Formats: sequence, C-alpha cells, structure tokens
Amino acid sequence: MAKKALILGLVAAAIAVMSWWWWRGGAAFALDVNPDRNVLLVTIDTLRADSLGSYGGRALTPNLDGLAARGARFTFAHSHAVVTLPSHASILSGRYPYEHGVRDNTGYRLRPSEATAATILKAQGFATGAFIGGFPLDHRFGLAIGFDVYDDKLSQATTSGDDSDRERRADAVVASALDWIGRQSGKWFAWTHVYDPHVTYQPPPEWAARFPSDPYLGEVSWTDFALGPLFDRLAAQPRPTLVIVTGDHGEGLGDHGELTHSLFAYESTLHVPLIVTEIAGSKPRAPSPRPSGVVIDTEVRHVDVLPTILDLIGADVASNATPAKTARPGSSLRPIIAAGRGDDRPSYFEAMTATVTRGWAPLRGVIVGRDKFIDLPIAELYDLAADPKETRNLVASRPDRGQVMMNALKGFDVAAPGRPQAETPDTIERLRSLGYIGGAVAPVREKYTEDDDPKRLIEIEQSMTRAAEAFQHGRLPEAIELYQKVIARRPDTEDAYRALALVFWRAGRPRDTIATLELALKNNVTQSEVRIKLGQYLVESGQSAKAIALLEHTAGDDPDALIALGNAYQIAGRSADAIRTFKHLLAVDPKNGLAYENIGVTQLQGRDYAAAETSLRRALDLDPNLPGAYTALGVVLASTGRKSEAIDAWTRAVKLDDTSLDALFNLTVNLAAAGRRDEARAYAERYLKIAPLGTREQDIAIIRRVLDGR
Ligand SMILES: [Zn+2]
Repeated sequence: MAKKALILGLVAAAIAVMSWWWWRGGAAFALDVNPDRNVLLVTIDTLRADSLGSYGGRALTPNLDGLAARGARFTFAHSHAVVTLPSHASILSGRYPYEHGVRDNTGYRLRPSEATAATILKAQGFATGAFIGGFPLDHRFGLAIGFDVYDDKLSQATTSGDDSDRERRADAVVASALDWIGRQSGKWFAWTHVYDPHVTYQPPPEWAARFPSDPYLGEVSWTDFALGPLFDRLAAQPRPTLVIVTGDHGEGLGDHGELTHSLFAYESTLHVPLIVTEIAGSKPRAPSPRPSGVVIDTEVRHVDVLPTILDLIGADVASNATPAKTARPGSSLRPIIAAGRGDDRPSYFEAMTATVTRGWAPLRGVIVGRDKFIDLPIAELYDLAADPKETRNLVASRPDRGQVMMNALKGFDVAAPGRPQAETPDTIERLRSLGYIGGAVAPVREKYTEDDDPKRLIEIEQSMTRAAEAFQHGRLPEAIELYQKVIARRPDTEDAYRALALVFWRAGRPRDTIATLELALKNNVTQSEVRIKLGQYLVESGQSAKAIALLEHTAGDDPDALIALGNAYQIAGRSADAIRTFKHLLAVDPKNGLAYENIGVTQLQGRDYAAAETSLRRALDLDPNLPGAYTALGVVLASTGRKSEAIDAWTRAVKLDDTSLDALFNLTVNLAAAGRRDEARAYAERYLKIAPLGTREQDIAIIRRVLDGR
C-alpha cells in the first residue's frame, strides 16, 4: 500500500514538472468550451490602451495587470467607434455601427430587434444584469433589452442641466454588481460599465495626489482599484467566470490636437485594451494549475467579443438560422488564444459625431494588418508598425497602397448616415408656420470639401472644449464668447447652440437662452435635440403655449420632450392632456419615476391629495433620487396635517439637490412658523443666494421677512 502511494506520488511529481515546462513553452493559456460558467464583461469608458501598466503605461493598475498575467492580453485591439453608445452597441451586438444603426450618442437608439449578448445569453439560461456608470448608456438608448436588471441609477441631473454629465462612481457601480451577483444561484452574465476616466478628470483625493500632474492617470488607477473587489469575488463563485475587459474608446489627451474623443480616430482614441481570462470557481471541475498569461499581437476587434463569448459557452446560435442581414462579422478569439496568434482581421471604424451634429465630413476608415487608412476629404494612410503615433501620412508617397486600402474600405458600407430622427416634411412645415424657420431647409449634405475635414476644423473642437471648461469653472462670459465665435464661423454647429443656451440659462438670461435656440432653427439647425431643448426652456420660462405648439410635433417618444410637453400642459391648466402625456411616457418607459412624479404634481394641483400621494410614493420607489417628488410629497403631507413628515420630505429634497427652490422656500416658511428660527435662517440664506434675478419676487419678499424676523 505504502509502495503504491509512493509510485503515484512520483508520477504526480513528474506531471507537475512536465506541465511547468509546458507552460513555459508558450502555449500557456487557453479557454475551453464550457456552458456552465458565468460571464463578466467589464467596459471601462475612455480607457487608452497605453495607460495600463500591463500595456507599458504609467497608471497603477495591479488588478487589470493581474488578469492579463493570467489570461490573454491583446496588444492590437480596436473599437469601431470613438464615442460611448455606438461603441458599446458594437461590443454587445457584435456588429459594426452601420449594421446596428447607432452612429452617435445622441439621437440614436438601438433597435429592439437587435440581438445582443444579453438577449442571447438570457435565452441560454443565464441571469443577466447590467451595472452602468454613465448617462450615454441610460436605458433610453436601447441597450437594456435582454437584461433582467439594468441598473443605470446615476446622480441627479441638475435643473435644466446637461444630462450628459450624469455619472456614478466606479465603487458604487461595483457595489451594485456585487450585490446582484451575490443573489444569483444559477449561472449569470454581468456587464459592468465604469465611467470614471471620462472627463472631467477628478479622481478621489488619494489618487489625485499620486498623479498631481496627470489626473487622467489618477482616474484610471482609481478605476482599477475600485474594480478589485469585483474580480476578488469571482473565486468564491461555485462556477468559473469568463472575464472580458476592454475600453469603449480611448482619449486624445492632446494627440493630434484632440483633447478628448469623438472627432478623430487616431490610435489614441481607437486602440483599446482587451483582456480575456477566466477565474476558476470554488468548485473547479478539475484542479487547474494557475496558467501564465499569453500576449497576442494579432489584430482583433470589438466585433469579435460577442462571438467569443458565445463560442466559449457553447451557445449554438448558428442553428437559429440568422438571416444574412443580422449576421455578425466577427468570430471567436478562442483559436487565436489557444495558438497565441492568428490571421489579422481587418477592422472598420468611424467617427460620425461631428457629421451628425455639425455637418463636418464623415470619417471612416479601415485597418488591415498594420496599415491604417482614414477616408476624409484629406485622406490619411499610416504604417502603424513603423509609425505608431501616426505622424507621417503616406497617402501621397504610397498611392498604390492607398488605393488598395480604399478598396478594402469599400467592402464595408460607406454610405454617410442620415441625420438622426430626421425632420419629417411635416415637422419642417410646422417650424415654418411657427415662424422659426424662413426659406428653404438645407438638405443633408452629400458633398464635403477639404474645408469640412475635421483636421481643418480642429480649432473649433478646441474652442468647444475650452468653452466647456470655462463654463464648468464658472467663467460664463468667456464661455459665451467662445461659443458665439464658433457659431459665427460654422453656423451649423448644433452642439454649440445647445451649450451656449445652457450657459445663458445658468447666467440667469432666459431670453438669450431661447433666442440662441431660435437662431439655431433659423440657421437650419433643426435636429430634434435643438427643438426639444427649446421646448424645455420655453416651459421653464413659463411660455407654455409656445412650448406646446413646438413640442406637440417634436416629442415623439423622447422622454425629456414628453416631460417638457406634459409640464407645458400643466402650466397651461390642461391637466387631462398633461396626464395623458405622462402616461404616454410610461407606455414607452414603464419604470420612469419622473413620469409618476409629474402625474403626482398634476394631481396635487387638482387637490387630489390621496391620488397625488400614491403617485409620488410610486415615483420615489422607482427612483429615490427625485428631489421634485420629495418637494411635492412634502406639500401633500403639509396639506393633510402631517407637518413634521413634510419637513422631512423637503429636507430630503434639498439634500438631493440644494438648488430646489420650492423645497428651500417651504422649509424656510414652515420652520419659521414652528419656531425653529435658526434652521429657517440657513435655508433662507441659501434661497436668496441662488434664486435667479428677476424671478419669484413675491417669494423673495416673504423669505426676506423671515430673515428680518418679522
Ligand atoms: Zn465612452
């Protein structure tokens, strides 16, 4: 017996030595097909490949580097778009932007019929959860389909503010994901999106201190730290977990004059990290030695991510006989990982934001091997092997290669996108009858010249960035001047009008706000975003009739527009129309807390306190971050004899948004009446500090009397 055990021991030792040698031999890491595993997809927004430690960067990223060291790290992976929504639509659907149809962050929504990782894995028996860190992936944009849970609860948007800067810190996103994972007993698919490296770069103090001159790297390092607990938890899962980490796009950081992303598609913003690995569960099928990682230089793409997941879980999706128009262009990375190399896969990419918002030339391109071609009025060709920073345009010196690359690009669909939510002739007629537009409307451009090339227009992009910075730091006159100069130079710059309107609004100049957006319409900048914003500002400045006339034909199914239209009806005393509009919104988005809030406010105006209380509490169940719902609930409570509960509700409203004027007013008056003078004073002072000039004069007079102790 003892002898037999000794022999077995020797065999085991021999195997151990052999496998050690075998790992060192190169075929280190491989993944097999296993339907009984979890899948974790982590997308890190605005993540430059060259920032991570494992990619030779200076950020402190031990968690991601650790995954790379035990998995497959792709050194030459690319996204297909340089902004958040189109890029994520490609990752999740495995299709190019012209196939899934999402070309920019605003104005587009993924079609409900589009198959994604969520819809397919759900059908394969996975629980599906998404945990979102930034507004561009709000459920309204269509990526939520197929997810059992789509947690996109972000910080509250500021009043009339810009929704697009709403976000949630990485640690909060991870906490939500961990909570959900902890409640699963079967296999699951979790998608975790963290937004922190996106502008503005404000890492938590500890991380800011480590990178005093480079807050972007501070954000990347902090994000890695925040993701640590998520990866740590996986080893305690009963099943193994396939882990895929990538970025949706990079960040310019000044390369080629681009500070952020969206305009160009140089490697700074197109090249992304891609790490594929597996973390063994607590009940491994066989004791598995810790593999060492593999580094793969083969050209791979985001459209390969979904086929890789499906292959590794053994999903037999080919048998679903997908019609050609929904076929996926990518293929599984499993054979490349096993071999450590493979054939290069040509990659299509585009940057369409400036085309759909500013009328600039559309940017499309293709990477074949290490050659990169960018099709613009001033075309570009780079040899990324010899010139990774894309400093030498070879179009003139190598016309033969340029032609080959152009032909490769033509293998993809190169038609320019139309405007999102294109204005119907009916809408145009309506705008004309309302006096917003004069003569003929310019058709969407088809011919672009060198003057429309984003390389020639980079100063406009820089002015827009500088203006946004000035605005964020409260230098409003500087922001106004910069935006006005942009509009004077390129009157079709849609986003400049919206940004300028917001600055005027914050400056307490509602008339200039509205005039700015009316000027946009006069200049044929008639995209729905402009019309919706104009409608919102008209409502907020009390011009409900004009707002109704504009929004009735503009709102469609847009959540912001429907809220604004409903509010306009409410102000105009048309409660039934208001409630009908909010119910329309609930039909589009059944979990919209703001819709219930507004129904509650309308019911409150009709003094139906019981109904209002039900609606407002429903709103807060769906979204506990609605200061307006707390404000209105406070009024219901105060009106039905529950004063102290009312004060609690208003206090919560102010905690959520310290610019909630109505809540501040109610707190001041009611606390003063209850003899709580000191507390009342604090709210009164806050109110006077922020109340916009020239408005609410009666309320201001009442507040002053409280302060004077009268
Ligand atoms: Zn992004």
